[in-house]
Amino acid sequence: MDIRYRSTRSDAAPITASEAILKGLSDDGGLYVPTQIPKLDKSFAELGRESYQEVAYDVMKLFLSDFTQEELRACIRAAYGSNFDTAQIVPIRKAGGAYYLELFHGPTIAFKDMALQILPHLMITAARKKHEQKEIVILTATSGDTGKAALAGFADVPGTKIVVFYPKDGVSSIQERQMVTQKGANTCVIGIRGNFDDAQTGVKQIFTDPALKARMAQAGYQFSSANSINIGRLVPQIVYYVYAYTRLLQTGALGDAGEINFAVPTGNFGNILAAYYAGKMGVPVHRLICASNTNKVLYDFFRTGEYNRNREFHVTSSPSMDILVSSNLERLIYHIGGDSAAKNDVFMKDLREKGDYVITDAMRAQLTQFCGGYADEEETADAIRTLYSNEGYVIDPHTAVAAHVYGAYAKSTGDKTPTVIASTASPFKFESSVMKALGRETDLPDLELADRLSEIAGVPVPKAVSGLRGAEIRHKTVCGRSKEDMQAEVEKFLGL
Ligand SMILES: *Cc1c(COP(=O)(O)O)cnc(C)c1O
Repeated sequence: MDIRYRSTRSDAAPITASEAILKGLSDDGGLYVPTQIPKLDKSFAELGRESYQEVAYDVMKLFLSDFTQEELRACIRAAYGSNFDTAQIVPIRKAGGAYYLELFHGPTIAFKDMALQILPHLMITAARKKHEQKEIVILTATSGDTGKAALAGFADVPGTKIVVFYPKDGVSSIQERQMVTQKGANTCVIGIRGNFDDAQTGVKQIFTDPALKARMAQAGYQFSSANSINIGRLVPQIVYYVYAYTRLLQTGALGDAGEINFAVPTGNFGNILAAYYAGKMGVPVHRLICASNTNKVLYDFFRTGEYNRNREFHVTSSPSMDILVSSNLERLIYHIGGDSAAKNDVFMKDLREKGDYVITDAMRAQLTQFCGGYADEEETADAIRTLYSNEGYVIDPHTAVAAHVYGAYAKSTGDKTPTVIASTASPFKFESSVMKALGRETDLPDLELADRLSEIAGVPVPKAVSGLRGAEIRHKTVCGRSKEDMQAEVEKFLGL
């Protein structure tokens, strides 16, 4: 089956997967969505016998229908190998009545690696297929984890350059250190005096600026995006939901109904959207539990049908979820509106102009699979402490948000469906918050803190952290949060 991609905001002709991966965002500002969600073409029993890489192939081949078998297999081989610290790639740990799907065993110890280790390979392959001569410039806004994962994926990849903007005071100490020490002559990291939404808005505006696009083309450059709006990030994320389901099925953990819940700590809505797509492919998903922190726009949305970004922005211990505009929700809005670009466009216009929209009752009726919840700072810390004291298992604050929300959900609904919690970061990435939650001393240099956490958790300090010892700070630029300030930095780096 030939799957193509169309914009969520216009009825322009659908394009191939390669084209969608290269473009990232549609010219009309919309996101690319598959014209159809393909069904899995192997049984769960068969998939259950396959390795992670094999499942990845069987899922991704259905979406990237213009990639040859050799091309896709080569991308998967390059992405999921010894750069992960376990051969299982995504181990599953049972603890506290749930299954923690550990998505943080890649080089930057956050789940973003799952997609960003493969995206550069997908892009380079797509460019080769399209006989694209221009150099690809990755422009990315990050709330902390995407930036480092994208830098790690693209550093020194020939034919690419990467520029990352992050909120100067909105990421953890380890996260910032990871980014500003990034090696690679093709990398550029810039702090902005603003929050993640400012960074994301600026990037989107730079991206769609027609004058800049023309100048870029003249200089032999073309923008692409490594943000979760790129379909090349979304598709690899579907894989681990299919994989997790087949592992639970295999171990007999699923009940007679064979159903599963996924609880996902959510920011930009990319990870949970991948779980939704896994459901559409055939995984029997009972509930998708969307967990937010104090920035609970999505919780309110699922409760009321109103998406309202006009509210106070909170900096929390789960910074990768400190987001008021969840970009990937647009894809869900498009789907529940009957795959209607016209309808979606009106909502997105309202969001841009008024910061608010309300979906129709008919659309709301299609959201019964979703269930929103949120955890405040105390509940998040509590979830870390409780799981550690009961099971000796240490989780990071993002995962803890989902753990709390799932716990509250299970208690209030009595739902016994086996539940997989997406464990999105290693506790070492947010060690200060974790140590504080555990009631330990936190007033130590970050690398010393890592050693203490290692003793408590009984796991070695990941290479991603120990490797920061003595690493040179290569990126020192900080700029204003306006589109003009940000664009000036991009132009400087590219020599425009
Ligand atoms: C990015 C991120 C999230 C949020 O994922 P989305 O796909 O943006 O919803 C949650 N936890 C961590 C650790 C992350 O890095």
